[in-house]
Amino acid sequence: MERTKCLIIGSGPAGFTAAIYTSRANLSPIVYEGIEPGGQLTTTTEIENFPGYPEGIGGTEMMAQLKQQAQRFGADVRFGVVTDLDLDVRPFVATIDGEKKIEADAVIVATGASAKYLGLESEMKYRGQGVSACATCDGFFYRKQDVAVVGGGDTACEEATYLASICKQVYLIVRKPFLRASKAMQERVFNTPNIKVLFEYNTVEVLGDEDGVTGARLRHSSGEELTIDIMGFFLAIGHHPNTELFKGKLELDEEGYIKTIPGTSKTNIEGVFAAGDVKDPHYRQAITAAGSGCIAALDCERYLLSR
Ligand code: NDP
Repeated sequence: MERTKCLIIGSGPAGFTAAIYTSRANLSPIVYEGIEPGGQLTTTTEIENFPGYPEGIGGTEMMAQLKQQAQRFGADVRFGVVTDLDLDVRPFVATIDGEKKIEADAVIVATGASAKYLGLESEMKYRGQGVSACATCDGFFYRKQDVAVVGGGDTACEEATYLASICKQVYLIVRKPFLRASKAMQERVFNTPNIKVLFEYNTVEVLGDEDGVTGARLRHSSGEELTIDIMGFFLAIGHHPNTELFKGKLELDEEGYIKTIPGTSKTNIEGVFAAGDVKDPHYRQAITAAGSGCIAALDCERYLLSR
């Protein structure tokens, strides 16, 4: 069976940063890219808040560069999905695409999280063309325009408030007659004059043309329909961490995120490290994921040296 010192699962900024560091430390890591090579950033258009790119950079382009950088130092980046992982044996054993098995002395989990979408066909059609699940990433492209945010939690309120500071009008589409967000966040929303909260509305269809989103058709719980003119449609209805594979194997919190020893990337299993959004329900930024990947690589390197 093939054996590696360091297996990295996931290919977002956390996975590739871990690959850059572990390959430069001569650990010859093998990276399995997973279902969505390049991770969530490949679903955004332009990234303007990653330090070092004064003109901004496309999400797909940035991930291609991170991959190249990891490969330059010898990281073995492979297309494939880890479908099983045995953490009860040493070395650990990963199954790739249900077939191939590979042994690993250490594992870095960087499988990320996925934003939840409503599941509308029209929403998928305009993804990256006005439909986004990240106001911090994409909000800037809609400055001085009208936009909508879907959701009633802290993320939705935070994103609506952020968008209100750069956009003309923000509609907050909430399916219930109340917000779930903390009182402080609610107050901020209610005190922002250019946020209009639309309670008890669900989105029926995202409207658009060849240039992207132009509006949304909403339905009130009473059945009445409302069409709003917007250029950006932001989802903030939660994320789910990609941790199916680790259930019953690694300690997860109640939301399913991997628990790590605070200030480190160490999981409850020695030799298994977690980095990026799979362990971070709060910050979820490319730069924080990259930093977290670096921490995991350093923890991994120290672990392998200490054995
Ligand atoms: P939440 O799960 O708290 O909220 C999700 C929101 O989306 C809810 O209002 C929910 O509605 C709504 N929703 C879910 N599915 C749909 C759907 N299909 N259609 C319409 N609406 C839908 O997620 P958040 O991302 O807001 O927050 C996650 C965690 O992170 C929370 O614990 C939050 O407190 C925390 N957080 C803290 C922040 C801070 O402290 N600054 C900032 C951001 C997040 P419903 O209420 O009807 O279920």
